[in-house]
Amino acid sequence: MGHERIWLSSPHMGGQELPFIQEAFEANWISPVGPHITAFEKELALYNRIDHVAALSSGTAAIHLALIILGVKAGDEVMCQTFTFSGSCNPIAYTGAMPVFVDSEADTWNMDPVLLEEAIIDRIKKKGRKPAAIVLVHLYGMPSKIADIQNVARKFDIPLIEDAAEALGSTFQGRKLGTFGDFGIYSFNGNKIITTSGGGALASNSESWIQKARFLATQARDPAPYYQHSEIGYNYRLSNVSAAIGRGQMLVLDDRVKARRANFDFYSNALSRFEEVSFLSEPIGAMSNRWLTTITFKNSDNQEINPEKVRLKLEEENIESRPLWKPMHLQPVFSDCPAYVTGVAQKLFETGLCLPSGSNLTESQRGRVVEALRKQVMR
Ligand SMILES: *Cc1c(COP(=O)(O)O)cnc(C)c1O
Repeated sequence: MGHERIWLSSPHMGGQELPFIQEAFEANWISPVGPHITAFEKELALYNRIDHVAALSSGTAAIHLALIILGVKAGDEVMCQTFTFSGSCNPIAYTGAMPVFVDSEADTWNMDPVLLEEAIIDRIKKKGRKPAAIVLVHLYGMPSKIADIQNVARKFDIPLIEDAAEALGSTFQGRKLGTFGDFGIYSFNGNKIITTSGGGALASNSESWIQKARFLATQARDPAPYYQHSEIGYNYRLSNVSAAIGRGQMLVLDDRVKARRANFDFYSNALSRFEEVSFLSEPIGAMSNRWLTTITFKNSDNQEINPEKVRLKLEEENIESRPLWKPMHLQPVFSDCPAYVTGVAQKLFETGLCLPSGSNLTESQRGRVVEALRKQVMR
């Protein structure tokens, strides 16, 4: 083989993380409290132009707390995009509520607003009450049809949670994603656009909600000198050491967005001649951070291009690629959940592939990926 491995999306440190960590060690703030947490929250709020942010242990924890604060409970239903990662909907199950899955539209690959409205009307008819929340995702960093989704949410007065785990830095009409809903959530997992090694954040313009999130994330301690609890709490706070990494990463976030977008431009230019390969373009007003560059294959007359075959071929050349997310309504664990589907997400899953998209990819590594792909689609 002889070639070093090309990863799908690996952590990319900027250089200022260690000095921040050093500070945490020198002050001995090696815990889920400390000045880096507060500073990281402020920097995230400033960057996204939102009033309040709570730094948490994961994006999944952020969605869980958003649902709890919105009052979602056992027996409720929550509308959720089916084309996503399980972190979007597992927290719905944690609350005892039932996820109701909604398919995507073909323009952004995110929740179809027309189908969402039909699904809500049908749930109200079948259950006699409306769903308790909507979980919308901006998959691969691509802004969803957020204005239309907001209109549906407002029409039925259902709170909206924006899962921007993959979309930090993306904008719609100049406004950062994660700031349109009642809550926005971000993830700093190792493969995301910036990382704290593991972590997440909950964002909202409501100060009391974010205060409540911090309270629930630290075991719901009542204000008393001893440990007293009147509510069930969670251990969901981000550590001060992780927040130190996050502060270093915030300094390079815009560079990371540029680098990921440059990956997309490189791939789409290099492969533009092949009509079997399609790229997802940005609708008017949308700016995607291009967290992962994704392609879909169209079968031409003379050959069938199977993304799994392509994936295995890339693997032979020590290049990591991955199928698009397998829709949640096709997951064994969610097979009992209601689903409103048109087939868009399933088709994407069957025909798509995520290409290596790290912000640390070199020109020659991207060249290797393109060469390996050309061999597959040119035969
Ligand atoms: C990564 C991710 C999450 C979960 O974030 P974690 O920090 O890994 O818990 C949720 N939703 C989407 C769409 C994600 O990609």
